[in-house]
Amino acid sequence: MSSDCLFCRIIAGELPSSQVYTDDSVLAIRDISPQAPTHVLLLARKHIASVGDLRKADHDLMGKIFAVGAEIATREGIADDGYRLVVNVGRNGGQTVDHLHVHLLGGRRMAWPPG
Ligand code: AMP
Ligand code: ZN
Repeated sequence: MSSDCLFCRIIAGELPSSQVYTDDSVLAIRDISPQAPTHVLLLARKHIASVGDLRKADHDLMGKIFAVGAEIATREGIADDGYRLVVNVGRNGGQTVDHLHVHLLGGRRMAWPPG
């Protein structure tokens, strides 16, 4: 845990969040500024700054995060129409919180290419 990391503080329960899923390695919360009718953030419980910092030992965790995203999409009723799983990396990628997370967005038609 990194005490100056927003998502580590949410995971530690020091800051409030709206949880939609939790287990020993993943916490899913609703995004505070939703960009779609369903906008969930899948957080790795472990502090990893970004995709660029993944180690071999984290590969199973990434697979798990995507599987949990699919499970939540089904539970939220957006799976049949489709949805998007997004990882922003670094400044050009639009990453604003340096703690690994995957966005689950759905409930509306997504544009391509993204902005
Ligand atoms: P990114 O820009 O990919 O790093 O995503 C960070 C996301 O975290 C943004 O979509 C923010 O709206 C969201 N966010 C920031 N603070 C909070 C918070 N306290 N609770 C839930 N989501 C947050
Ligand atoms: Zn963190």
